[in-house]
Amino acid sequence: MVSTMETLAIRTENKFRTLVTKQAYKKGEVICAMPSENIVDKPTRFTVQISKDKHTHVGKLAALNHSCDPNVILDTENMLMIARRDIEKGEELYFFYPATEWEMQAPFICLCGSANCIHVVAGARFLPLSTLETQYLSKHIRETIIESLNNTELHLKKLQEA
Ligand SMILES: [Zn+2]
Repeated sequence: MVSTMETLAIRTENKFRTLVTKQAYKKGEVICAMPSENIVDKPTRFTVQISKDKHTHVGKLAALNHSCDPNVILDTENMLMIARRDIEKGEELYFFYPATEWEMQAPFICLCGSANCIHVVAGARFLPLSTLETQYLSKHIRETIIESLNNTELHLKKLQEA
């Protein structure tokens, strides 16, 4: 079991932090265990959402930036960081923030430049299903989407009955 983060380095440039891998990974390979250092019930800009009402500080992984075409996924059920595609030594690592975050505390504008860029990164709650279904999503995000769809259906029914 890979649990150390010795293969990862944080680079800081103009106060902007990036997480870089010191070794190559194959698609599907486990890069490291996700640390769960301090679980809180409200998100901050340094936490990752791991269930409907839990957010955790993730140590070094807090330096992971967002991309709409990410090269890693965070498996919040097994608490692992996994390569989404082959990754070369020296590459910066990115994950898709709405894959774990329903509603972010500090939304921002994405300039990743990928063809499917979502531009406003504010959490899964603010994205259309057609965008979400192209990404790997954490279980708690999939469940929250289903819940909100069911609520919409219920609401529509009530409107029709009124
Ligand atoms: Zn983007």
